[in-house]
Formats: sequence, structure tokens, C-alpha cells
Amino acid sequence: MALLEVEDLKTRFQTDDGVVNAVDGVSFTLDRGKTLGIVGESGSGKSVTCLTILGLNDPRNTTSEGVARFDGVDLLRTDPESLRQLRGMRISMIFQDPMTSLNPVKKIGWQLEEAVLVHRDVSHKEARQLALAAMESVRIPRAAQRIDDYPHQFSGGMRQRVMIAMALINEPDIVIADEPTTALDVTTQAQILDLMNVLQDERHMAIIMITHDLGVVAEVADDVIVMYGGQVVEHAPVDEIFYRPRHPYTWGLLGSLPRMDIEVEALAQIPGQPPSLLNPPAGCRFHPRCAFAMDICRTEVPQLVPYGDASHLQRCWLDDATKERESVRTVAALQQEAS
Ligand code: ADP
Ligand code: MG
Repeated sequence: MALLEVEDLKTRFQTDDGVVNAVDGVSFTLDRGKTLGIVGESGSGKSVTCLTILGLNDPRNTTSEGVARFDGVDLLRTDPESLRQLRGMRISMIFQDPMTSLNPVKKIGWQLEEAVLVHRDVSHKEARQLALAAMESVRIPRAAQRIDDYPHQFSGGMRQRVMIAMALINEPDIVIADEPTTALDVTTQAQILDLMNVLQDERHMAIIMITHDLGVVAEVADDVIVMYGGQVVEHAPVDEIFYRPRHPYTWGLLGSLPRMDIEVEALAQIPGQPPSLLNPPAGCRFHPRCAFAMDICRTEVPQLVPYGDASHLQRCWLDDATKERESVRTVAALQQEAS
């Protein structure tokens, strides 16, 4: 049995403008020690997928369906108190912006201690020792001197390390990282990703890495979900995504893979905008932006089905020959760019 099994997850928001179908039938499994990458442009439903699993949507305007089974417990049906206990203890989340997640008027050490004391029956002294150890584990230099600093005394990269320390302090089974390095420069980003890799190996935790950056995915993921318009359009082991991509949206993302060695202006972008989830396009949600769209794509919803290997799922009406040809072309273009 997988550590986390998500089946047909759906999340709808009731808004003044109507119903937003933010997540529409997402399924995946996650094993201990593995990393699942979730990629897609902004607004594709990545964050809401994870917030739904953690029960962090506002219940007043949100309805969710499906199953999110963690260690045998369905998180969507467990009581709020049990869920609160799991969160931060067995499953924790690293948010994108440490400035909004850290309390600006509390010392770093105090905030880390709090994260321990909420969940564990330990003394203040022990909590402080754990806070210090957590700061050291994420390689914050001179942790003992800095434990009583406030968040604004830390750089962006160091604040992000504090967020990671906080997410890891109770040694969770799963860490959900929502664009944890987006706000950081390339060097700091690489250091943080390396650090997460090391800590993952040491503790055998599972990671869900949400990002719009395929470069990050290539670095850390074992399996990848590509999301578009609230749905999974491709789901495969990481090598399949990079060497045998099967969906036009993935080809587009790979075409706009940011590379340090080429000018930003030279990047191929996917033309157009992601769909509004208030009123998504009929048929395939990607069809208005797809260079390969056919009549059927405008009316019939393609299902997520295996292509070739059973572990490689994709949602597209194109014939196999075209998929094969365009996949090869995308990968060749990428490799040419890289050389
Ligand atoms: P991503 O993380 O992929 O950028 P999100 O999961 O945050 O995207 O959002 C998916 C969609 O749900 C977007 O269209 C967003 O505007 C909408 N959305 C997110 N949160 C809410 C909310 N609380 N109320 C209404 N719509 C929301
Ligand atoms: Mg997001």
C-alpha cells in the first residue's frame, strides 16, 4: 500500500461569479522516500490539490470529493481535530513565501519551538534543543547565535531554510513543498533543493514538489504530474516526461524550459493564457492553445489513459504517429539547446 493514495480528487469553490472547478479528478500515489513533482502554469490547480489533501480550504465556500488515503486514513473524511494533529506532525507543508508564513514579531527559535510544542509532549528546554538542531540540520550558519533573531534579520534564502526546518522538525512522513524556491536566486535555489534531497535520504520522507519550473522537476522528482486547467494531462516517471513526453502541453512546457545559457527573450512560450476555471473550454481544456487541435478536441473530453508503458498516462486525442514524431522533435530540440 502506498503512503498516500489520492483518487479522483475534485475541489470546487463557490464564488460571486459562479463555481470554480479548481481541481477536477486528480489521482496519484506516493511511496515513502519518493518525490512527486506537480508542474503546470499558474492557475492549473497545483496548490489547491495539496491544500485539499491537507484540509486547508475554507469550508464555507469549498466542496471536495474523492479520496486522499494517508496511511490508511481518508483525510477528506477524518475529523478536523485528527487532521490538525496530522498536519505539521506527519504531513507538513512548505509554503512559497516565507514572509507570509513566518510571524514577523516572533523570534525564529520561538516559532520553531511552537511547532514542536503544539504536537509533542516535551519540555520547553527540549523544544529549544530541537529548534536548534532543526536550524543546524538545514545548515543555518551560527544557529546558536541566530536562534533569537527575528525573520527580518534573515536573508530570503535563510528564511526559506527556516521554513524547511519548521516543516521537518517533527520528522514528517510527507513534506508538501509549494514552489519553495521560486522567490530565490538560482544558486540559493540549487542549495535548498540539494539540502532537501539530503534530508529526504536521511529520513526517508516522501516529498510532493509543486513548481512551474521543469528544471526543478528534473532535479528532484521520481514521478511527475503535469496539470492543466485543474486536470492531469500527463503523469509518468520523470525520465518518460523528459525523454518521451506525450502531451502537446508538456511539449510546450519543455519548449519553455528556462535555461541559464540562453537569453530569456529566446524562450519559446506557449501562446495564449490558461483557461478560466469558472467556464473551462469544452472538450480538451488545452485545445484553444494547441497547435495540433482537431475537431474532436473541441467537443469530446479525452480521458487519461496509458500510452506505451502502463505507468505513462496521457490525456490527448492525437494519433500515436503524431505523438511519436512530435515527442522526438521536442526532445531533440531540447538536447540541441543543451549542447
Ligand atoms: P496553481 O497553484 O496551479 O497556480 P491554484 O491551485 O492556486 O493554482 O488555483 C487553481 C484555480 O483555483 C485558479 O483558477 C484559482 O484562481 C482558483 N482558486 C484558488 N483558490 C481559490 C479560492 N479560495 N476561491 C476561488 N477560486 C480559487
Ligand atoms: Mg500555487
